[in-house]
Amino acid sequence: MSQIRISSRNFFYNVNQIANKTQSIKKVALVLKDNAYGHGLVIMAKLAQKAGIRHAVVRTLAEALKIESLFESILVLSDIPQTAPSPKIRIAINDFGAITSIPKGTNVELKIDTGMHRNGIEPGRFHESLEKIQKQGLKLTGVMTHYRSADEIGSDFFWQKKVFEKVREEALRIGIDGVRWHSCNSAALFRTAQFDEDIARVGIAAYGCLDMPGSFRIPKLRPVMSLWADRISTRSLNARSRVGYGGKGVLQKSSTVSSYDIGYGDGWPRDDYVLPDGRALIGRVSMDAISVEGSDDTICLFSDASDAAVQFGTISYEIMTRLSPSIKRVVV
Ligand SMILES: *Cc1c(COP(=O)(O)O)cnc(C)c1O
Repeated sequence: MSQIRISSRNFFYNVNQIANKTQSIKKVALVLKDNAYGHGLVIMAKLAQKAGIRHAVVRTLAEALKIESLFESILVLSDIPQTAPSPKIRIAINDFGAITSIPKGTNVELKIDTGMHRNGIEPGRFHESLEKIQKQGLKLTGVMTHYRSADEIGSDFFWQKKVFEKVREEALRIGIDGVRWHSCNSAALFRTAQFDEDIARVGIAAYGCLDMPGSFRIPKLRPVMSLWADRISTRSLNARSRVGYGGKGVLQKSSTVSSYDIGYGDGWPRDDYVLPDGRALIGRVSMDAISVEGSDDTICLFSDASDAAVQFGTISYEIMTRLSPSIKRVVV
């Protein structure tokens, strides 16, 4: 069956590079949302624990509950529980109006909209938000923001950072204490000269697919995920035979052609694609199969999702997260 291989060695290598940058493994919060970017939530949570990572970030409460025992804190980015979860679980506040929907006693982290204009409260409503949080009986455990262009050359990153720092100064002035401050995703962390926040929320760098313009001079990271498929069947075909749906794959010469057990039903894109070894897929991608010249028992679809993403005109995040959770994940 098709298989996602997880290189624990590459993951530990990346985590090391990240911890060098944060200056402590204690400051690394691994982002495990969306099935750990397709790598497998529980598999990656266990590897993270092995690497000494103490903090996790997920999208939903259901994800948090699956990995609760493995971390000291788990930040839920986009979900509101029915009843207050355990104190380790912290709920991000994305919207001023949503504060009153969060159950009393919940630990919360307030997101500030410093310029991305997706989620978070306006900096001008900081005080008002603090009051509302208190009135609702919630406990503030962190203040955070997110950058819109940390991976692109330009000034956005710097002015957003300034806005966040202003909020932080204001918090200091009014005596807010004991909450963690965090703004960095992978790209922001690696373009920060001197990291001085409490945690960094790192996803893509840990998975080894951080793509940034060369001028940023970031350390080379190693892809954790590779995707493989097994041979289903093989046949010998004459020149001009047509393979697959619509007969779209026309053979130029007589060839041995095999089918492999991955398709768009597994989240693999339906577009044309060339394997890392140079062979192009023949004809259309089916729901559960692709065709390739040759008769190898196993083929590698990619060993670096960034390379595949270039072919499909997208980003590695999309290629990895769209892979079906039903594909088997194995740690190698
Ligand atoms: C997904 C996400 C991250 C991680 O981003 P990477 O680019 O993968 O490091 C960090 N913070 C927030 C709020 C996110 O949604």
